[in-house]
Amino acid sequence: MAESTFTERAEEFYAKLMREHYEVGAGLKADLEIAPIYDSYADLFSEPSVKQRIGSMRRDRASKEARHLADFSVSSYIENATKELTEAITNAELKATVEWDAQQVPYQNVHSILVREPDYKRRHELEHRRLAVTVKQNPERSRRIIAQDDLARGLGFASYRSLVEELRDWDLTQFSKALDPLLAETEDIFEDQLVKNLGNARVPRGQVDTSDIAYVMRAPEYDPLFPGDRLVPLFEKTVTQMAMPLESTPGLFLDTDKRPLKSPRAFCAPVRVPKEVYLVIKPVGGQDDYRALFHEAGHAEHFTHIDPGLPFAFRYLGEEAVSETFAFLFEHLTLNPRWLVDYLRVPLRDAEKYRRFGLFNKLWLVRRYAAKLRYELLLHDQGPEGMDTAYRDILGEILHVAIPPERYLDDVDDAFYVAAYLRAWIFERQLESFLEEHFGEGWYESRDAGGFLRSLWAIGMRDSVAELARTRVGAQGLDIQPLVAELADF
Ligand SMILES: [Zn+2]
Repeated sequence: MAESTFTERAEEFYAKLMREHYEVGAGLKADLEIAPIYDSYADLFSEPSVKQRIGSMRRDRASKEARHLADFSVSSYIENATKELTEAITNAELKATVEWDAQQVPYQNVHSILVREPDYKRRHELEHRRLAVTVKQNPERSRRIIAQDDLARGLGFASYRSLVEELRDWDLTQFSKALDPLLAETEDIFEDQLVKNLGNARVPRGQVDTSDIAYVMRAPEYDPLFPGDRLVPLFEKTVTQMAMPLESTPGLFLDTDKRPLKSPRAFCAPVRVPKEVYLVIKPVGGQDDYRALFHEAGHAEHFTHIDPGLPFAFRYLGEEAVSETFAFLFEHLTLNPRWLVDYLRVPLRDAEKYRRFGLFNKLWLVRRYAAKLRYELLLHDQGPEGMDTAYRDILGEILHVAIPPERYLDDVDDAFYVAAYLRAWIFERQLESFLEEHFGEGWYESRDAGGFLRSLWAIGMRDSVAELARTRVGAQGLDIQPLVAELADF
């Protein structure tokens, strides 16, 4: 197949897949049907074609385009080979229900009930019933992970981990070790904050589990600070101040319509980059709604500002941490007391209090992902057999609460996406420090800061976050120190 035909068809395939995810998530379609899309583009990731892509990458190590295209081919090949299992798991979860208070609650909605249940005994019981549904798909999840590892070896990689490392140009073992100082330095402050924040959950310290954390993170006391009707206008104001009003990004489609099947969580669907990118939200208000919208808005701004003249390999493919960095940068505004006071008219005292709560939430997440990375490396290196106790122990030790072993396969992201989040959290702190240094504390009101961000967005996902750290913000590379400093600043 000619190179131009390959990239054109790959882009078409990607757009169809993303449109399917958009339509199901937006509630326009009931079932996820990705198998027919894979079938009609099977030539893109037939085994000979995938091996040819790997060969091109190895012949020309300097070509990012060759590496991104190999990554696309290999990932699609593995996803294609496991698509029936993926669909079976997703569709079983969409149809599953949990009995609660004499009602059949959709499995997907259990979380929203759980985070509002003030009685810890009832909360634990509901969590227990949810986990009983989760474990039903564990045999499929286990088969899927084993299949990923077998497919990686079939393509000539030593393991699934080394496949991901070569395609991303990562060293995951070294990266995981580099996070140890972060865990050590935040250990005491984490326990301290955990105990403080658990006060509201009214649960004995020895019995705390992850459902109590979910309850604590819901924090309804902050909801009045974040009204639903201000959410979209505030996003519009924020981008307008940075000299990029929504009218200037015709590719960004805000989907705020109410539909019964619409996902309660905001998401961004880059269907055609940069011309057709959906930002899907159900604006109900509250702190987590604001955080989710601004996070997804960061993705949407990034995708809609990518230079349309760039090749497919740089508009769609590359390190996800790049887009996650911009998502975290926007999300982080909702933790910024100055932004909260100026834009949302939150009293300074409340803004400071909320910042500390948000910081605890972030500390929990960063530690959780560092723990997950440690666990996922073990899971892929040793296989899923008996890994439920490793999951429980590794996460339990780092998070200081009881971890349900039942989630040892469900709480796992494909292709170590967990590393992308961690790299993005690290680089986001470096980027924001740079923005503050050059454009002031109120960088988010600066046209020049907006211009600087647009220059970063324009190059799409061509460069990794480690390269961006070196070439754009004057650092030596990724540096965990700004993140560690922030996480200790209560
Ligand atoms: Zn994201």
